[in-house]
Amino acid sequence: MTEVIGVVGAGTMGNGIAQVLARAGYRVVLRDLKDDFLARGLAAIEKSLQRDVEKERLAASEKKAIRGRIEGTISLEPLCDASIVIEAVTENLGVKIEIFKALDQITPPETILASNTSSISITKLGAATTRSDKVIGMHFMNPVPVMKLVEVIRGVATSEATYEKVRALTEKLGKAPLDCQDSPGFVSNRVLMPMINEAIFTLYEGVATRESIDGIMKLGMNHPMGPLTLADFIGLDVCLAIMNVMHEGFGDQKYRPCPLLKRYVDAGWLGRKSGRGFYEY
Ligand code: NAD
Repeated sequence: MTEVIGVVGAGTMGNGIAQVLARAGYRVVLRDLKDDFLARGLAAIEKSLQRDVEKERLAASEKKAIRGRIEGTISLEPLCDASIVIEAVTENLGVKIEIFKALDQITPPETILASNTSSISITKLGAATTRSDKVIGMHFMNPVPVMKLVEVIRGVATSEATYEKVRALTEKLGKAPLDCQDSPGFVSNRVLMPMINEAIFTLYEGVATRESIDGIMKLGMNHPMGPLTLADFIGLDVCLAIMNVMHEGFGDQKYRPCPLLKRYVDAGWLGRKSGRGFYEY
């Protein structure tokens, strides 16, 4: 029987992860809280696959088969057959702990529980379960179908066997696993987010316009996308959550989130996904 992998959260990352798993031949159970959130995630998968069909990178029959391997659900029970569950819900420790506790209850003891968290401690998530040796970080990059990297993060108790399985899965998805210790923001966001936050400070202080800031980093540093455009792409709520985790985790003022970032998140201006962030969409 085809191996089943669970994905919790059908947002930006969860629907991308579900898509790459199904493309690699796995059966996927994709869970979100409400039917409309799930429908939005499934529609994003459909759109992305259709684009590949139009560009002749995928046969229409393959697209149908891939889509057929993804089952959407709003309940947790269908996840009970999964060999691995990848959690990709909102970047909030309390929310993630509740999910890890629930997954620990309903899945068989051998199921690996992975988190796509951008910054939260894998050790803390592991401690919320009775199987901390099987809890690991599997940090995909956005957009998941395109980006090669998966940062693989071992918590204090993560076993070698769990690590090896996740490494093998990552390679089977055609991605490159790179290791990292469990530390706030890991490597990717510890290096990236302070740059984005600093770009927001330059906007906040009126040092330059949004177009200038992004243009300077694109043309001057050869970045494919300016930092404000990238923040909109990631989601401003996600950026703020990551800065907060690093600010608290290191207790260092250099990770203080810019007040403008907080103000935008308060306004519901979350970037691309809400239609407005530093730019309008
Ligand atoms: P998102 O806001 O687009 O999606 C989160 C989804 O989780 C929503 O659909 C929400 O309804 C769902 N959700 C919330 N609680 C749930 C629950 N209890 N059960 C099932 N679903 C639930 O967020 P995102 O950008 O996809 O981020 C998800 C995770 O991935 C976060 O931990 C984030 O830090 C991480 N991440 C994000 C990016 C990025 O660029 N956006 C990159 C790498 C990692």
